[in-house]
Amino acid sequence: MELLRHIPQVSKLLPRFTHKYPQELAKRAIREVLERVRQEIREGRRQSLEDLEKLIENRLRELSRSSLKKVINATGVVINTNLGRSPLSEYVLEFIKEVAGGYSNLEYDLQEGRRGSRISHVEELLKELTGAPAVHVVNNNAGAVFLVLNTLARDREVVVSRGELVEIGGSFRVPDIMRASGARLVEVGTTNRTRLSDYQKAINENTALLMKVHRSNFYMEGFVEEVSVEELLSLGLPVYYDMGSGALIDLKSLGINSQEPDFKSCMRIGVHVVSGSGDKLLGGPQAGIILGREEFIKAIRKNPLSRALRIDKLTLAGLYATLRLYLEKRYEEVPTLRMLSERPQELKRKALSLARKLKKVPELEVQIIRDSSKCGGGALPELELPTYCVAVKHRRLSTAQLDRALRLSDPPVVARIKEDMLLLDLRTLQKEEFSELVKVFYNLS
Ligand SMILES: *Cc1c(COP(=O)(O)O)cnc(C)c1O
Repeated sequence: MELLRHIPQVSKLLPRFTHKYPQELAKRAIREVLERVRQEIREGRRQSLEDLEKLIENRLRELSRSSLKKVINATGVVINTNLGRSPLSEYVLEFIKEVAGGYSNLEYDLQEGRRGSRISHVEELLKELTGAPAVHVVNNNAGAVFLVLNTLARDREVVVSRGELVEIGGSFRVPDIMRASGARLVEVGTTNRTRLSDYQKAINENTALLMKVHRSNFYMEGFVEEVSVEELLSLGLPVYYDMGSGALIDLKSLGINSQEPDFKSCMRIGVHVVSGSGDKLLGGPQAGIILGREEFIKAIRKNPLSRALRIDKLTLAGLYATLRLYLEKRYEEVPTLRMLSERPQELKRKALSLARKLKKVPELEVQIIRDSSKCGGGALPELELPTYCVAVKHRRLSTAQLDRALRLSDPPVVARIKEDMLLLDLRTLQKEEFSELVKVFYNLS
């Protein structure tokens, strides 16, 4: 308690930090640390004030560090929602820079010299790539689902299978967003089996839509039955398909063993409205893509909420450039597609090269193992992509400690743990990141 009286005043401490840090930040750090120290003294957990300046310096360093930063993704999860989903290519970034760094014809029709539509820029590309009769684009797919339901089914009924009322990452649950949109949810079938007759029985004069939701992040095996979109179309009511991951092309053509539905096939069979994300399998920026028949898309675009969910110009530029890559079939320049389709031999070569570098790091035990990576991002949940990993163990740190130290490094490295080894999965690691990655390991020892 005596110690409390020896705590220096903020004004005494301040000059020791203001040569290096802004005054307000220094004040904040000092106040925070002093408060913590007082608390510790009162609780009898502190006997000295020796480390006071060091604590303040540490806090200041924490406060001045950028919170949002680049991370090295060694998890092998390609579309990693926690780590920002799809990375964008150089080509796309250059295009965003060009459009957003100055003025653009975002909403200006250069031909006519009058106001234009921002959607028009991606509209033609999406029509060309998917065969869709009409197109709309919003901020993200959650927004798209909300907008579609609010436009086409407010105060009316939407029939959905119980097996498709999924949760996609903590904050998006299909039944919740349906309710929020003003649509009345009519659940049919059971968790594992839903038949066409279940839908049929639920239809009445209040039914606005039959909705199908892509299960995205899980799959069911065993005694399972579901109704295909084709069958739903046979019932004669408008069908809305939330595709979630939204592949733009058939991924099998890139050698990816995938059962994912793609926009083009859905348009070919005549689904009335479909929606999907821009930053999942499509590999672009966050966006919600809505495709479908003219009269539905027209109504959706006219909904005043469309303005509230408007796609921003950075995103639009990124989406536009990504679609250009598809149009020109430059799939290897879409990082998500490149990582998903990378061959095991190539991953092995990369693993050998990284392992050679890491073996020189003191205290590290390094080996190469075969494992499998995941697609992530609510796509291809059943797919195991054969991969190669560099597995490391540290002689002084436990695997959990090593994992934590890497996460707190600069740049942070996020890996995965398996059988008490830390795995660096080469599927999501770029060769250009190797030297930074190796440096992080040297800094540990
Ligand atoms: C991911 C997903 C969403 C949400 O999409 P965001 O682009 O993240 O808003 C909605 N529905 C399904 C089926 C999904 O997989």
